Amino acid sequence: MTATPNHLRSVDPQLAGLITAEEARQRDTLKLIASENYVSAAVLEASGTVLTNKYSEGYAGRRYYEGQQVIDQIETLAVDRAKALFGTEHANVQPYSGSPANLAVYLAVAKPGDTVMGMALPMGGHLTHGWSVSATGRWFNAVHYDVGRETGRVDMDEVRDLARRERPTLIFCGGTAIPRVIDFPAFAEIAREVGAVLVADIAHIAGLVAGGAHPSPVGHADIITTTTHKTLRGPRGAMIMAAPEHAKAIDKAVFPGLQGGPHNHTTAGIAVALHEAAQPGFADYAHQIVANARALAEELQARGFDLISGGTDNHLILIDLTSKGVGGKPAAQILDQAGLEANYNTVPYDTRKPFDPSGLRLGTAALTSRGMAEPEMREVARWMDEIVSTLAGDDTEAVEKAVARVHGEVSELTGRFPVPGLD
Ligand SMILES: *Cc1c(COP(=O)(O)O)cnc(C)c1O
Repeated sequence: MTATPNHLRSVDPQLAGLITAEEARQRDTLKLIASENYVSAAVLEASGTVLTNKYSEGYAGRRYYEGQQVIDQIETLAVDRAKALFGTEHANVQPYSGSPANLAVYLAVAKPGDTVMGMALPMGGHLTHGWSVSATGRWFNAVHYDVGRETGRVDMDEVRDLARRERPTLIFCGGTAIPRVIDFPAFAEIAREVGAVLVADIAHIAGLVAGGAHPSPVGHADIITTTTHKTLRGPRGAMIMAAPEHAKAIDKAVFPGLQGGPHNHTTAGIAVALHEAAQPGFADYAHQIVANARALAEELQARGFDLISGGTDNHLILIDLTSKGVGGKPAAQILDQAGLEANYNTVPYDTRKPFDPSGLRLGTAALTSRGMAEPEMREVARWMDEIVSTLAGDDTEAVEKAVARVHGEVSELTGRFPVPGLD
């Protein structure tokens, strides 16, 4: 019933107990957090190996430490698999995570003080796309595009106008709360016109791109960054893929520009995840993620939930709870008590504060990894409706009863769907 190894149990029972508790929590809740997933047992195994013992500053064939006979082969395998899966000419698999990967891009192609452009954080962008509290917003002159107040979608005319006016060195497209297809060709045309480097940050949708369930930025974006742990189902890490003219600068920016030794155990886990994503079944998985999100969105809308942009094209749904009369944070907290794990999120033009916003963000990648499909999504929508409607009624006793009732039904469902890597 548990994946926690015996050695850990005898050496550090306290920590082992905490991991066991987290295993149980992950098994017994419905993981609706859009940036999370369950890795396979194979990825988990590769990530927890002796590869963590090895220092490998540099790149395959050009290292600063001896003893790279095996590590070079592992990193080369990961790089080759990334290039083959996404169809790019260059890949760097060393960034520690998505944020350092993006920082490496700035280091590679921009100078401090340069104008950079990205989607505003409250509109669905990412901190590292030049938001004020991020180093990228403090060290660069960042300008931001929004989404339409009515459409909830990026307006490419606005992006073009902003780019012509500001002449940025680089333009980021992609983000953390975008429920719609990203128009890579349109961004590329604008970037070309103003002489900017286009960076497609596909952290959220990499698995959908790999599985053919979202258009690829390859051939449009000059540089592509991604995390490996979201829809791609790998360990926590990141990759940067680039057109040949940026390859050298990207590699130099990652090491020695920003990082020291790569995390070889993570590189191995990434290699396994890329291998899994190259299997024919992964395309089915990616398309099922999208079908599940669509089913969940339709059922939520039928129950009166207000979805940003009116629906979804990918794995992600952004709900504005204003019409339901509850805030995103209390809703997320009570849903978690009932076994439905999501995160509160700002919605475009939110009138509430970022720490207590109006929105709730959902994703279907993790549930799809457990084998759930459309019927289960409709159940999830029904439970969310029950919890949120009861919460709006402001009757503590009724809320407690609803939480207990829904949690019982959730447990019945999670019991039927094993967790990859655990069961
Ligand atoms: C998750 C995410 C990142 C950052 O990844 P971390 O691994 O959390 O640093 C960067 N960009 C986008 C668009 C993301 O969604």
